[in-house]
Amino acid sequence: MSAVSALAPDHDARPSEAAPRPRRECVAVKVGSVQVGGGAPIVVQSMTNTDTADVKGTAQQVAELARAGSEVVRVTVNNPESAAAVPRIRERLDMMGVSVPLVGDFHYNGHQLLEAEPACAEALAKYRINPGNVGFGKKKDSQFAAIIEMALKYDKPVRIGANWGSLDQSMVAMLMDENSKRAEPWDAGHVAREALIRSALDSAARAEDLGLGRDRIIISCKVSGVQELIAVYRDLGRRSDYALHLGLTEAGMGSKGIVASTAALSVLLQEGIGDTIRISLTPEPGQSRTQEVIVAQELLQTMGLRAFTPLVTACPGCGRTTSTVFQELAKTVQEHVRAKMPEWRVKYDGVENLTLAVMGCVVNGPGESKHANIGISLPGTGEAPSAPVFVDGKKSVTLRGEGIAHEFVDLVENYVATHYSARGD
Ligand code: SF4
Repeated sequence: MSAVSALAPDHDARPSEAAPRPRRECVAVKVGSVQVGGGAPIVVQSMTNTDTADVKGTAQQVAELARAGSEVVRVTVNNPESAAAVPRIRERLDMMGVSVPLVGDFHYNGHQLLEAEPACAEALAKYRINPGNVGFGKKKDSQFAAIIEMALKYDKPVRIGANWGSLDQSMVAMLMDENSKRAEPWDAGHVAREALIRSALDSAARAEDLGLGRDRIIISCKVSGVQELIAVYRDLGRRSDYALHLGLTEAGMGSKGIVASTAALSVLLQEGIGDTIRISLTPEPGQSRTQEVIVAQELLQTMGLRAFTPLVTACPGCGRTTSTVFQELAKTVQEHVRAKMPEWRVKYDGVENLTLAVMGCVVNGPGESKHANIGISLPGTGEAPSAPVFVDGKKSVTLRGEGIAHEFVDLVENYVATHYSARGD
């Protein structure tokens, strides 16, 4: 049998698999107006890095994150000042017309803060509890129960969010002890992963015992290693039907953070695991916090899981391009689309599915441009100084001269206005 025919059966099996697996079935949870799990679209969320006690600054950043596309925004609630600020932040957001649900991130003293600030407990759409630091020793159970009682009182869901960096040490000790009695002990990594999962699942079971429904519980088990996150969530997905919050914790800065998050999340999302995601990027100094929202959206959109904003396909450029014209054009078009999307989203139904291409030369330019709704193929070295534009696979016009970028953007605007029906029609 030749090498080609030996590969054929496998190859034949693939085309129908060019799609993610069906989503893992789980219980739906309402976080304010947003549904997580239960077959709902995967929710993009983010977290502020302002001092929550700074009402104006935090409301401003929440609004920026929401306008960038974050569907849920978490704020840290770590002291009485921040707890007192939460209802004022909510009020300010409502006045700004920003209805995004707010989630409170509690550690150590959440039970006291929620008790002391009923308006905070009411204003939040969800409480995040970390079972590794909800309390220590004898106080752990009572403090955990106090937060669950607040969730019951105010009819709020909780996220039970275990984290590698704050693992419940009593759980680790118990599992190490169990492991030492095994005929074939697990390695330390396996024990730690199990401790993380058990910490979340046991806490969720306790919350249920206290009366909180499964439709009020979201689980997460965050780690900072890509392979560990994949292993943990595969296991977690098999062992429960809770809605899952997915994210690589402390992913890092710049390309490292983006690549590590994408590597881990894309494997799991492809397997149908994950109901809400957060990309935990460390912003570069001066960089907008909204980058984590854009990355989360682009991850979901490039995987074909959701559509948020028209994406621009652009070639990387090579020795066939003599200038940076096409790089600048790709940037101009992408920025124009992002800037116009808040307006387009309101006006035009389905515009987020628009596809664009900006290509550098004749090699792949016309072909790739024909695959897009609207694409342009710029002239490479030695080619005639003209740029054919393709609309829905057919050559439409040819642009020339200095004003190509401007004219192409006008063509994109015209395409949007003429191809997407007005919302409400
Ligand atoms: S389309 Fe042309 S310019 Fe772009 S990478 Fe390919 S060969 Fe190079």
